[in-house]
Amino acid sequence: MEKKEMLYEGKAKKVYATEDPQQLIVSYKDDATAFNGLKKGTITGKGVINNRMSNLLMARLEKDGIPTHLIKELNDRETLVKKVSIVPLEVIVRNISAGSFAKRYGVEEGIVFDQPTFELSYKNDDLGDPLMNDDHALALKLATPEELALIRRYALTVDKLMQEVWAECGVTLVDFKLEFGRLDDGTIVLADEISPDTCRLWDSETHEKLDKDRFRRDMGGVEAAYEQVMSRLTQHL
Ligand code: ADP
Ligand code: UDP
Repeated sequence: MEKKEMLYEGKAKKVYATEDPQQLIVSYKDDATAFNGLKKGTITGKGVINNRMSNLLMARLEKDGIPTHLIKELNDRETLVKKVSIVPLEVIVRNISAGSFAKRYGVEEGIVFDQPTFELSYKNDDLGDPLMNDDHALALKLATPEELALIRRYALTVDKLMQEVWAECGVTLVDFKLEFGRLDDGTIVLADEISPDTCRLWDSETHEKLDKDRFRRDMGGVEAAYEQVMSRLTQHL
């Protein structure tokens, strides 16, 4: 499948049309941003790792009954996916306090929750992705009640499956962000990516951060952390 015109350039990926109107090619960049684009940088090799990792994880989720946009990895940085209309919600599941949760509620990072929390933000860069509840999403007609129920069920299943996979790699899945979309027939599928850009991953023993927080917080060792989680995953899967 050949790339045609570029439809969109985002912060981490480019999206291209193909000759099939139902299919897109996503191309993963090494560009990194944080704090809604305020901090910019490059993580060398990130695009290759995120492309591979997202595909490995989505293939695993498909096997366990979660429909995803994945069709086929084309090369190091590019993947053919089903075109969806993105539901403009950032779906966040948390197992341990960190990031904006810790900040918002004035607690330390690392509190292990008795059960996962499910959270929605409105995917809108101009507004800074504000936190919202199901009723707000319904009021703005971002999704139907049935879609929201399905998205919640899928997200919590993804959490369970991904916690298992990562635990076997000696990595704790702290939290993550998912995006869902609708196919032409309305079917809800998991889209976008699952990677150290979109998940918090801590070494299970040392609690060392192995994700984008190293970039966000200028901790150094960013490339090494991405390579580390990728190599643990490929050794395991
Ligand atoms: P951002 O838009 O936040 O800067 P990216 O750089 O990752 O993010 O750009 C990828 C864009 O493609 C995102 O807006 C994402 O919602 C969208 N997207 C991801 N998967 C699909 C898909 N299967 N079909 C259509 N759009 C998609
Ligand atoms: N996340 C993301 N994109 C966003 C916001 C959050 O991928 O635009 C991920 C982030 O990497 C983390 C989880 O979602 O794994 C929860 O992020 P949080 O709300 O704590 O926000 P942050 O600390 O990134 O501002």
